[in-house]
Amino acid sequence: VSKILDGKKMAAEIREGLKREVGELAKKGTTPTLALVTASDDEAALAYVRSIIKAADAVGIKTKNVELSPGATFLEISEALKDLAKDKSVHGIILQTPLPAGIDADELRVLIPATKDIDGASPLSAGRLVSGLSTFAPATAVAVMEMLKEYKITLQGIRAVMLGRSRVVGKPLAHLLLDANATVTICHSKTKDLAGVASEADVLIVAIGKPNFINSKFVKGGAVVIDVGTNITSDGKMVGDVDSETVSAKAGALSPVPGGVGPVTTAILLKHTVIAASL
Ligand code: NAP
Repeated sequence: VSKILDGKKMAAEIREGLKREVGELAKKGTTPTLALVTASDDEAALAYVRSIIKAADAVGIKTKNVELSPGATFLEISEALKDLAKDKSVHGIILQTPLPAGIDADELRVLIPATKDIDGASPLSAGRLVSGLSTFAPATAVAVMEMLKEYKITLQGIRAVMLGRSRVVGKPLAHLLLDANATVTICHSKTKDLAGVASEADVLIVAIGKPNFINSKFVKGGAVVIDVGTNITSDGKMVGDVDSETVSAKAGALSPVPGGVGPVTTAILLKHTVIAASL
Protein backbone atom coordinates (compact mmCIF):
# COMPACT_ATOMS: atom_id res chain seq x y z
CA VAL A 1 0.00 0.00 0.00
CA SER A 2 1.35 3.41 -0.98
CA LYS A 3 2.31 6.28 1.27
CA ILE A 4 -0.38 8.95 1.51
CA LEU A 5 0.68 12.50 0.63
CA ASP A 6 -1.50 14.35 3.11
CA GLY A 7 -2.51 17.70 1.64
CA LYS A 8 -4.92 18.53 4.42
CA LYS A 9 -2.20 18.36 7.04
CA MET A 10 0.22 20.29 4.86
CA ALA A 11 -2.35 23.03 4.20
CA ALA A 12 -2.95 23.40 7.96
CA GLU A 13 0.80 23.84 8.50
CA ILE A 14 1.02 26.46 5.74
CA ARG A 15 -1.93 28.33 7.28
CA GLU A 16 -0.26 28.33 10.72
CA GLY A 17 2.87 29.88 9.20
CA LEU A 18 0.76 32.46 7.38
CA LYS A 19 -1.04 33.51 10.57
CA ARG A 20 2.34 34.37 12.08
CA GLU A 21 3.45 36.27 8.96
CA VAL A 22 0.18 38.19 8.78
CA GLY A 23 0.74 39.17 12.43
CA GLU A 24 4.25 40.41 11.60
CA LEU A 25 2.96 42.45 8.65
CA ALA A 26 0.19 43.92 10.81
CA LYS A 27 2.87 45.25 13.21
CA LYS A 28 4.33 47.13 10.24
CA GLY A 29 0.89 48.51 9.37
CA THR A 30 0.09 46.22 6.41
CA THR A 31 -2.99 44.00 6.22
CA PRO A 32 -2.65 41.56 3.31
CA THR A 33 -5.73 42.03 1.15
CA LEU A 34 -7.12 39.83 -1.58
CA ALA A 35 -9.73 41.08 -4.06
CA LEU A 36 -12.06 38.60 -5.76
CA VAL A 37 -13.95 39.73 -8.83
CA THR A 38 -16.98 37.81 -10.03
CA ALA A 39 -19.54 38.55 -12.75
CA SER A 40 -21.61 35.38 -12.70
CA ASP A 41 -24.36 33.50 -10.91
CA ASP A 42 -22.62 30.15 -11.42
CA GLU A 43 -23.12 28.39 -8.09
CA ALA A 44 -19.86 26.39 -8.23
CA ALA A 45 -17.84 29.53 -8.92
CA LEU A 46 -19.56 31.48 -6.14
CA ALA A 47 -19.04 28.61 -3.71
CA TYR A 48 -15.35 28.54 -4.63
CA VAL A 49 -15.06 32.27 -3.96
CA ARG A 50 -16.82 31.86 -0.60
CA SER A 51 -14.40 29.09 0.35
CA ILE A 52 -11.40 31.33 -0.41
CA ILE A 53 -12.91 34.19 1.61
CA LYS A 54 -13.44 31.85 4.58
CA ALA A 55 -9.89 30.50 4.35
CA ALA A 56 -8.48 34.03 4.08
CA ASP A 57 -10.50 35.16 7.12
CA ALA A 58 -9.09 32.31 9.16
CA VAL A 59 -5.49 33.52 8.69
CA GLY A 60 -6.24 37.24 8.99
CA ILE A 61 -6.11 38.12 5.29
CA LYS A 62 -8.68 40.77 4.39
CA THR A 63 -10.84 40.13 1.34
CA LYS A 64 -12.63 42.50 -0.97
CA ASN A 65 -15.48 40.73 -2.72
CA VAL A 66 -16.29 42.64 -5.92
CA GLU A 67 -19.55 41.11 -7.15
CA LEU A 68 -20.54 42.45 -10.54
CA SER A 69 -23.79 41.43 -12.17
CA PRO A 70 -23.84 38.34 -14.44
CA GLY A 71 -24.67 40.79 -17.22
CA ALA A 72 -21.65 43.01 -16.60
CA THR A 73 -19.94 44.45 -19.69
CA PHE A 74 -16.26 44.23 -20.62
CA LEU A 75 -15.93 47.92 -19.73
CA GLU A 76 -17.43 47.46 -16.26
CA ILE A 77 -15.18 44.53 -15.43
CA SER A 78 -12.11 46.26 -16.83
CA GLU A 79 -12.84 49.40 -14.79
CA ALA A 80 -13.12 47.29 -11.62
CA LEU A 81 -9.79 45.57 -12.39
CA LYS A 82 -8.04 48.86 -13.18
CA ASP A 83 -9.22 50.31 -9.86
CA LEU A 84 -7.92 47.26 -7.97
CA ALA A 85 -4.63 47.40 -9.91
CA LYS A 86 -4.12 51.01 -8.76
CA ASP A 87 -5.34 50.46 -5.19
CA LYS A 88 -2.27 50.26 -2.93
CA SER A 89 -4.29 48.55 -0.17
CA VAL A 90 -5.03 45.57 -2.47
CA HIS A 91 -2.20 43.03 -2.83
CA GLY A 92 -3.78 40.15 -4.74
CA ILE A 93 -6.49 39.95 -7.40
CA ILE A 94 -8.46 36.93 -8.61
CA LEU A 95 -10.77 37.26 -11.61
CA GLN A 96 -13.15 34.33 -11.22
CA THR A 97 -14.53 32.59 -14.29
CA PRO A 98 -17.03 32.07 -15.86
CA LEU A 99 -17.44 35.58 -17.22
CA PRO A 100 -20.50 36.81 -19.12
CA ALA A 101 -20.80 35.26 -22.60
CA GLY A 102 -18.64 36.80 -25.29
CA ILE A 103 -16.14 38.41 -22.93
CA ASP A 104 -12.47 37.58 -23.55
CA ALA A 105 -11.03 36.65 -20.15
CA ASP A 106 -7.43 37.14 -21.30
CA GLU A 107 -8.04 40.73 -22.40
CA LEU A 108 -9.19 41.33 -18.80
CA ARG A 109 -6.48 39.27 -17.09
CA VAL A 110 -3.74 41.40 -18.66
CA LEU A 111 -5.11 44.30 -16.59
CA ILE A 112 -3.95 42.52 -13.42
CA PRO A 113 -0.35 43.55 -12.68
CA ALA A 114 1.97 40.51 -12.43
CA THR A 115 2.79 41.52 -8.83
CA LYS A 116 -0.89 41.14 -7.87
CA ASP A 117 -1.66 38.14 -10.09
CA ILE A 118 -1.47 35.66 -7.22
CA ASP A 119 -2.98 32.79 -9.24
CA GLY A 120 -0.65 33.35 -12.20
CA ALA A 121 -3.69 33.60 -14.47
CA SER A 122 -2.62 36.38 -16.81
CA PRO A 123 -0.87 35.63 -20.12
CA LEU A 124 1.79 38.05 -18.86
CA SER A 125 2.46 35.89 -15.80
CA ALA A 126 2.51 32.78 -17.99
CA GLY A 127 5.08 34.46 -20.25
CA ARG A 128 7.20 35.45 -17.27
CA LEU A 129 7.08 31.87 -15.96
CA VAL A 130 8.22 30.40 -19.28
CA SER A 131 10.90 33.09 -19.59
CA GLY A 132 12.33 32.21 -16.18
CA LEU A 133 11.41 35.58 -14.64
CA SER A 134 10.15 35.83 -11.07
CA THR A 135 6.38 35.61 -11.05
CA PHE A 136 3.42 33.90 -9.40
CA ALA A 137 2.71 30.55 -11.09
CA PRO A 138 -0.85 29.14 -10.95
CA ALA A 139 -1.58 28.05 -7.37
CA THR A 140 -2.43 24.43 -8.25
CA ALA A 141 0.88 23.95 -10.06
CA VAL A 142 2.75 25.48 -7.11
CA ALA A 143 0.76 23.31 -4.68
CA VAL A 144 1.94 20.13 -6.44
CA MET A 145 5.56 21.31 -6.36
CA GLU A 146 5.25 22.15 -2.66
CA MET A 147 3.83 18.69 -1.93
CA LEU A 148 6.74 17.03 -3.76
CA LYS A 149 9.14 19.20 -1.74
CA GLU A 150 7.41 18.54 1.59
CA TYR A 151 7.67 14.79 1.04
CA LYS A 152 11.30 15.11 -0.13
CA ILE A 153 10.67 13.54 -3.52
CA THR A 154 13.74 13.88 -5.72
CA LEU A 155 13.04 15.57 -9.05
CA GLN A 156 16.52 16.08 -10.45
CA GLY A 157 17.11 13.68 -13.33
CA ILE A 158 13.95 11.66 -12.80
CA ARG A 159 11.27 10.93 -15.41
CA ALA A 160 8.18 13.07 -14.72
CA VAL A 161 5.05 12.53 -16.78
CA MET A 162 2.36 15.22 -16.77
CA LEU A 163 -1.08 14.05 -17.90
CA GLY A 164 -3.01 17.12 -19.11
CA ARG A 165 -1.81 20.31 -20.81
CA SER A 166 -4.22 22.97 -19.56
CA ARG A 167 -3.06 26.51 -18.96
CA VAL A 168 -3.95 26.36 -15.26
CA VAL A 169 -2.36 23.03 -14.39
CA GLY A 170 -0.50 20.93 -16.98
CA LYS A 171 1.57 23.53 -18.82
CA PRO A 172 2.79 25.60 -15.86
CA LEU A 173 3.46 22.45 -13.82
CA ALA A 174 5.50 20.94 -16.66
CA HIS A 175 7.63 24.13 -16.63
CA LEU A 176 8.12 24.01 -12.88
CA LEU A 177 9.14 20.33 -13.09
CA LEU A 178 11.57 21.19 -15.88
CA ASP A 179 13.02 24.01 -13.77
CA ALA A 180 13.53 21.42 -11.02
CA ASN A 181 15.62 19.38 -13.51
CA ALA A 182 13.16 16.55 -14.08
CA THR A 183 12.93 15.05 -17.58
CA VAL A 184 9.36 15.97 -18.43
CA THR A 185 6.86 14.42 -20.82
CA ILE A 186 3.48 16.11 -21.34
CA CYS A 187 0.53 13.96 -22.43
CA HIS A 188 -2.94 14.96 -23.62
CA SER A 189 -6.06 13.55 -25.26
CA LYS A 190 -4.23 12.79 -28.54
CA THR A 191 -1.31 10.96 -26.91
CA LYS A 192 -0.80 7.46 -28.30
CA ASP A 193 -0.27 4.65 -25.79
CA LEU A 194 -0.98 6.82 -22.74
CA ALA A 195 -0.55 3.88 -20.37
CA GLY A 196 2.82 3.04 -21.92
CA VAL A 197 4.13 6.59 -21.50
CA ALA A 198 2.62 7.10 -18.05
CA SER A 199 4.07 3.86 -16.74
CA GLU A 200 7.60 5.10 -17.47
CA ALA A 201 7.15 7.86 -14.89
CA ASP A 202 8.97 8.02 -11.58
CA VAL A 203 6.60 10.89 -10.77
CA LEU A 204 3.19 10.78 -12.47
CA ILE A 205 0.97 13.86 -12.22
CA VAL A 206 -2.61 13.52 -13.37
CA ALA A 207 -4.82 16.50 -14.28
CA ILE A 208 -7.26 15.34 -16.95
CA GLY A 209 -10.68 15.70 -15.31
CA LYS A 210 -11.77 12.07 -15.84
CA PRO A 211 -13.07 10.29 -12.71
CA ASN A 212 -10.99 7.24 -11.69
CA PHE A 213 -9.50 7.04 -15.22
CA ILE A 214 -5.93 6.15 -14.19
CA ASN A 215 -5.65 2.56 -13.00
CA SER A 216 -2.61 0.46 -12.12
CA LYS A 217 -1.79 -0.17 -15.81
CA PHE A 218 -0.71 3.49 -16.05
CA VAL A 219 1.61 3.29 -13.06
CA LYS A 220 5.15 1.98 -12.63
CA GLY A 221 5.66 0.04 -9.41
CA GLY A 222 6.83 2.38 -6.64
CA ALA A 223 6.05 5.58 -8.60
CA VAL A 224 4.88 8.77 -6.92
CA VAL A 225 1.38 9.62 -8.17
CA ILE A 226 -0.17 13.05 -7.69
CA ASP A 227 -3.89 13.25 -8.43
CA VAL A 228 -4.98 16.79 -9.28
CA GLY A 229 -8.42 15.78 -10.54
CA THR A 230 -11.56 16.84 -8.72
CA ASN A 231 -14.68 15.26 -10.16
CA ILE A 232 -18.13 15.19 -8.59
CA THR A 233 -19.94 11.88 -9.10
CA SER A 234 -23.70 11.57 -9.63
CA ASP A 235 -24.15 10.79 -5.92
CA GLY A 236 -22.33 14.01 -4.98
CA LYS A 237 -18.99 12.44 -3.96
CA MET A 238 -15.66 14.01 -4.92
CA VAL A 239 -13.28 11.64 -6.70
CA GLY A 240 -9.94 12.15 -8.39
CA ASP A 241 -8.68 11.17 -11.84
CA VAL A 242 -6.86 8.23 -10.25
CA ASP A 243 -8.54 4.99 -9.26
CA SER A 244 -6.98 5.01 -5.80
CA GLU A 245 -8.03 1.43 -4.99
CA THR A 246 -5.94 -0.22 -7.69
CA VAL A 247 -3.20 2.42 -7.87
CA SER A 248 -2.45 2.54 -4.14
CA ALA A 249 -1.52 -1.15 -4.29
CA LYS A 250 1.20 -0.39 -6.86
CA ALA A 251 2.39 3.20 -6.37
CA GLY A 252 5.03 4.18 -3.83
CA ALA A 253 3.10 7.30 -2.83
CA LEU A 254 -0.28 8.78 -3.75
CA SER A 255 -2.07 12.04 -3.04
CA PRO A 256 -5.69 11.43 -2.04
CA VAL A 257 -8.85 13.17 -3.32
CA PRO A 258 -10.27 14.86 -1.34
CA GLY A 259 -7.54 15.97 1.05
CA GLY A 260 -4.64 16.15 -1.40
CA VAL A 261 -3.80 18.91 -3.86
CA GLY A 262 -7.07 20.84 -3.30
CA PRO A 263 -6.49 22.15 0.23
CA VAL A 264 -2.83 22.93 -0.55
CA THR A 265 -3.95 24.99 -3.58
CA THR A 266 -6.12 27.24 -1.41
CA ALA A 267 -3.30 27.62 1.11
CA ILE A 268 -0.91 28.61 -1.70
CA LEU A 269 -3.32 31.31 -2.93
CA LEU A 270 -3.22 32.79 0.56
CA LYS A 271 0.56 32.40 0.76
CA HIS A 272 0.95 34.25 -2.54
CA THR A 273 -1.25 37.07 -1.19
CA VAL A 274 0.98 37.38 1.87
CA ILE A 275 4.11 37.36 -0.33
CA ALA A 276 2.55 40.06 -2.55
CA ALA A 277 1.76 42.13 0.55
CA SER A 278 5.30 41.80 1.88
CA LEU A 279 6.94 42.85 -1.39
P1 NAP B 1 -8.93 20.89 -18.64
O1 NAP B 1 -8.67 22.31 -18.94
O2 NAP B 1 -10.22 20.28 -19.01
O3 NAP B 1 -7.74 20.04 -19.30
C1 NAP B 1 -7.74 18.66 -19.27
C2 NAP B 1 -6.50 18.15 -19.96
O4 NAP B 1 -6.53 16.74 -19.91
C3 NAP B 1 -6.40 18.54 -21.43
O5 NAP B 1 -5.07 18.88 -21.75
C4 NAP B 1 -6.85 17.29 -22.15
O6 NAP B 1 -6.23 17.08 -23.41
C5 NAP B 1 -6.38 16.22 -21.21
N1 NAP B 1 -7.19 15.01 -21.32
C6 NAP B 1 -8.54 14.89 -21.26
N2 NAP B 1 -8.92 13.62 -21.42
C7 NAP B 1 -7.79 12.90 -21.60
C8 NAP B 1 -7.54 11.53 -21.82
N3 NAP B 1 -8.53 10.63 -21.92
N4 NAP B 1 -6.27 11.14 -21.96
C9 NAP B 1 -5.25 12.04 -21.88
N5 NAP B 1 -5.43 13.34 -21.65
C10 NAP B 1 -6.69 13.78 -21.53
O7 NAP B 1 -8.76 20.60 -17.10
P2 NAP B 1 -7.90 21.32 -15.94
O8 NAP B 1 -8.47 22.64 -15.65
O9 NAP B 1 -6.44 21.17 -16.19
O10 NAP B 1 -8.30 20.36 -14.73
C11 NAP B 1 -8.00 18.98 -14.72
C12 NAP B 1 -8.58 18.36 -13.47
O11 NAP B 1 -7.98 18.97 -12.34
C13 NAP B 1 -10.09 18.59 -13.29
O12 NAP B 1 -10.64 17.47 -12.63
C14 NAP B 1 -10.16 19.80 -12.40
O13 NAP B 1 -11.34 19.85 -11.63
C15 NAP B 1 -8.97 19.56 -11.51
N6 NAP B 1 -8.40 20.77 -10.91
C16 NAP B 1 -8.11 20.70 -9.58
C17 NAP B 1 -7.53 21.78 -8.95
C18 NAP B 1 -7.17 21.67 -7.50
O14 NAP B 1 -6.84 22.64 -6.87
N7 NAP B 1 -7.17 20.47 -6.92
C19 NAP B 1 -7.28 22.96 -9.66
C20 NAP B 1 -7.56 22.99 -11.03
C21 NAP B 1 -8.13 21.88 -11.64
P3 NAP B 1 -6.45 18.09 -24.68
O15 NAP B 1 -5.60 19.29 -24.38
O16 NAP B 1 -5.95 17.31 -25.84
O17 NAP B 1 -7.91 18.41 -24.73
